[in-house]
Amino acid sequence: MTVAAATRRAQMYEYEGLRRKVYGDGLTFVPVCETCGRFVKADDAVTVNGFGDLVQQPNATCSRCGRVAMIFEGWVHTAPYSPPNGGSHNAEVG
Ligand SMILES: [Zn+2]
Repeated sequence: MTVAAATRRAQMYEYEGLRRKVYGDGLTFVPVCETCGRFVKADDAVTVNGFGDLVQQPNATCSRCGRVAMIFEGWVHTAPYSPPNGGSHNAEVG
């Protein structure tokens, strides 16, 4: 493998900072084709079974490879909403 090819491969598997495709309440994918490394067009929805597990099936379209499965990153849960606490700064000492 040449240095250029190795670099390209490393970049292909470096997904930090790439945009993510998130469904519903946090089902997160990296919308990249595992075969060729191109960005893929994600489907509008993915299939999850009754246990909340992803059903492994094509869920995106690669312009080169056709129907492919995106890289499943996992469930990303956002922090729960917490209302601002407007009174805490009024605490007095002594
Ligand atoms: Zn592809």
